[in-house]
Amino acid sequence: MTPRQIHVVGAGLAGLSAAVRLASRGLAVTVHEATNQAGGRCRSYYDSALGMEIDNGNHLVLSGNKAALSYLDVIGARAGLAAPLSSSFPFIDLATGERWTVRANDGIVPWWILDPTRRVPGARLREYLALAKLLRAKTGATIGETISCSGPLYVRLIEPLLMSALNTEPRGGSAALGAAIIRETLAAGGRSYRPLIARNGLSKAFVEPALQYVADHGGSVSFGRRLRQLTLDADRVTALDFGDASIHLTSNDAVILAVPPTAAGSLVPELPTPTEFRAIVNAHYRIDPPERLAPMIGVVNGMAQWLFAFPRHLSVTVSAADDLLDLSREDLARRIWSEVAVIANLAGAMPAWQIVRERRATFAAVPREDAKRPGAETEWENLVLAGDWTQTGLPATIEGAIRSGAKAAAILAPL
Ligand SMILES: Cc1cc2nc3c(=O)[nH]c(=O)nc-3n(C[C@H](O)[C@H](O)[C@H](O)COP(=O)(O)OP(=O)(O)OC[C@H]3O[C@@H](n4cnc5c(N)ncnc54)[C@H](O)[C@@H]3O)c2cc1C
Repeated sequence: MTPRQIHVVGAGLAGLSAAVRLASRGLAVTVHEATNQAGGRCRSYYDSALGMEIDNGNHLVLSGNKAALSYLDVIGARAGLAAPLSSSFPFIDLATGERWTVRANDGIVPWWILDPTRRVPGARLREYLALAKLLRAKTGATIGETISCSGPLYVRLIEPLLMSALNTEPRGGSAALGAAIIRETLAAGGRSYRPLIARNGLSKAFVEPALQYVADHGGSVSFGRRLRQLTLDADRVTALDFGDASIHLTSNDAVILAVPPTAAGSLVPELPTPTEFRAIVNAHYRIDPPERLAPMIGVVNGMAQWLFAFPRHLSVTVSAADDLLDLSREDLARRIWSEVAVIANLAGAMPAWQIVRERRATFAAVPREDAKRPGAETEWENLVLAGDWTQTGLPATIEGAIRSGAKAAAILAPL
């Protein structure tokens, strides 16, 4: 029999995760990527306006993201994420100028919520206890239907956390997806939500070492190969059509389709997929961060939501940013810079800047869209799906994408 060849279509993190898992098991894997770069929505690129390599968007991973860390361990890149010694989140309220730092203790019993020097200022114990309702949310419920979306704890911690994790205004967001985040972070103890940041760029941590790993294990990755069509029999994929080339599959071969939902929907007939998306805007400024600036600061009552300090540049993330898409890039850069100057205590003119708008950054994490997410298996026995939009139980995140790739690999090559 011909040795089994597994084709992974799409070299985002889901596809790379699948390819790495398969290659680690000695299986023959070929990755086909439409663009000329791997990483998909999680990548670095050279930005000529700034004259340096930056990330398409700031990405945060948490220490409890087990699949992401296991992937980094396999490809030997865990050191690519800077790990603070504790779970510590500095915040500023731009309306009042107040600053505070949430410092969770490591263990599962969250005694930090009672310590005035570590907890959210103004938050009451009963607000923390009320969060338990989210963990028992009804299927299909929104967060706003499940917990009270007001009060100091919500405004100063839960809303910023859920806004970035769901990339959706939390009130209308899926309670089940919100609960998954709380379960794997706040409810799991501070050891599980230390922020991990790719200080030297996403590609150096998540992408380049994965490509190297696949190559070192006999696999291959081709770029500029957009899958145009899947030839589907009653129960199998029999060919891949890339326009200028096509590949016929033997009865032993298989395909992992790790493309975004719109592409998957056009390749696979009648595949249910999320169809509503949310934008993320990132504003990058070429400036050395002040020496004592925290690597990451949460912002309340601002246009900016999180400020990240990287070597040689500062960078702001705005999630669920669809309302900002109509503003001009210059306007966005200036308005966000005026906030950065306050947060980081900077005087002086706005430095060189770049605005990156990802219009379809993630699917909208609302109940009706979550309900459309398909599982990994399809009605074709050698076709498996992967991607942050498949039914991972998580919102669209690095952790979800990497889990989905590992799951797809496990379906085709069970241990
Ligand atoms: C600005 C921004 C900020 C984010 N911040 C965070 C964060 O802080 N933390 C977090 O956990 N997550 C974050 N995310 C989400 C995270 O980036 C995604 O969940 C993850 O990267 C999705 O990976 P994926 O492989 O599922 O999809 P993608 O990255 O979309 O990969 C799909 C790949 O398929 C390729 N492709 C498409 N069509 C074809 C075709 N026909 N043939 C071949 N190839 C094809 C694409 O070019 C792409 O490379 C953020 C996303 C964005 C955009």
